[in-house]
Amino acid sequence: MNCPYCNYNDSKVIDSRDVNDGVRRRRQCLSCNARFTTYERIQPASLFVIKKDQRREEFNRVKLLGGVRKACEKRPLPTGAVEKLIDDIEAELYRSGKSEVPSTVIGDMVMAKLKNLDYIAYIRFASVYREFADITALKDAVDTLVVSQKSHTPASQLSLLPNEKPGELVGRQRKNRRIP
Ligand SMILES: [Zn+2]
Repeated sequence: MNCPYCNYNDSKVIDSRDVNDGVRRRRQCLSCNARFTTYERIQPASLFVIKKDQRREEFNRVKLLGGVRKACEKRPLPTGAVEKLIDDIEAELYRSGKSEVPSTVIGDMVMAKLKNLDYIAYIRFASVYREFADITALKDAVDTLVVSQKSHTPASQLSLLPNEKPGELVGRQRKNRRIP
């Protein structure tokens, strides 16, 4: 680290303290005695995503954020909820210490978190990520949610069917079926 004033290549550390995720050092130039500050931060090792076709791609936070944002579009989620979800996943991935992670693992992590956040966003994300081939696959995913909603609904969860109880929906479908 060269002195920003005279460009001399050596300095001594006169003060050092930990800040959030790094170290702040106060330095003094050994040539002109000017004082300046440097910050040291840990650079996370790069993380690669193994795609379905086995190609490797560097983990791209912006891309993942874009996909999840799209699934959450126009959903009444608290500000910053999507960013927090991505932050948590990113931290978990780096904490795992692995240098390569299959894209399916990341997709499953997103699904697990969306399921606790918003069912509609979950279904939207799942339909893209799981590539629902037809309406039956989509219906199966919704049915699974309705079953799990009956047994356990997270306190933060928005209702899947805001104006109807599952019972009423079934009743109406039955009625419709009788119409020739
Ligand atoms: Zn200097």
